[in-house]
Amino acid sequence: MSLSELLRPSGALADVDPQSMPGFDGDVAEAKAALKQIRGELAELQEKLYANGLSGDNRSVLLVLQGMDTSGKGGVIEKVAGAVNPQGVDITSFKKPSDEELSHDFLWRINKALPQAGKIGVFDRSHYEDVLIVRVHGLAPIGEIERRYAAINEFESAYAESGGTIIKCFLHVDQDTQKERLAARLEDPEKHYKYRPGDLDERALWGAYTEAYQIALERCSTDVAPWHVVPSGHKPYRNWAVATLLLEALRDLKLDWPTPSFDVEAEKKRVAGL
Ligand code: AMP
Ligand code: MG
Repeated sequence: MSLSELLRPSGALADVDPQSMPGFDGDVAEAKAALKQIRGELAELQEKLYANGLSGDNRSVLLVLQGMDTSGKGGVIEKVAGAVNPQGVDITSFKKPSDEELSHDFLWRINKALPQAGKIGVFDRSHYEDVLIVRVHGLAPIGEIERRYAAINEFESAYAESGGTIIKCFLHVDQDTQKERLAARLEDPEKHYKYRPGDLDERALWGAYTEAYQIALERCSTDVAPWHVVPSGHKPYRNWAVATLLLEALRDLKLDWPTPSFDVEAEKKRVAGL
């Protein structure tokens, strides 16, 4: 079974142990080594995707990262997106919407950030915030929030139809792990910049967030854009798992080097004669 199939949500989030390492046969140190082993293949497939994009192939890949504070969205970007050529990756971090963004439909800013042909897009938070924090804090009328699940499914299916592959990851941590990581941020002056006092207010709403995630995972896991629950208590496993999901998706594209649009032999002769 692929890791993608193994990590599909089934039942309650509470039943998934954030310290578990499904699909990985080894310990935490080995997970770190395993990521190193797949970096080469990841980088090669990303380059093929990019090369094909230059010659008219409309395919692209979108990695959506969601999770509570400290779940490791930034860490995954560093280790997984960092494993490939940065020229081929478009990273977008979605913050609290600006006044202009709020004056449009919630998918307006998302649509603008979709990866171009040949690119890997990474969303650090995403349109799901519009059914997560917005639901938890009642930032939009409930009727509007309820409308959004189907709107998201349609939007994602249209992206898939146009050549997009979507990989959605929920980085799953528990409250104890979050507490440890918050405490560690405060202990280390070099990590203070990551700490925001307001994060504790969101932590206090853990139950409401879990419920909102549960609803989103249930209503927005479709065949073309399934969710994955990535146990994220162990950072090396988390990084390996997301990298492997990306690798599986890239392998499924059956990428080859594009055929040159010029006559290679003729060009060799021209270069030899320079
Ligand atoms: P961070 O990812 O830690 O830099 O924080 C970004 C903040 O922006 C988080 O608190 C998000 O919940 C918030 N945010 C992102 N998207 C939205 C949205 N659509 N509506 C409200 N808040 C959002
Ligand atoms: Mg944060």
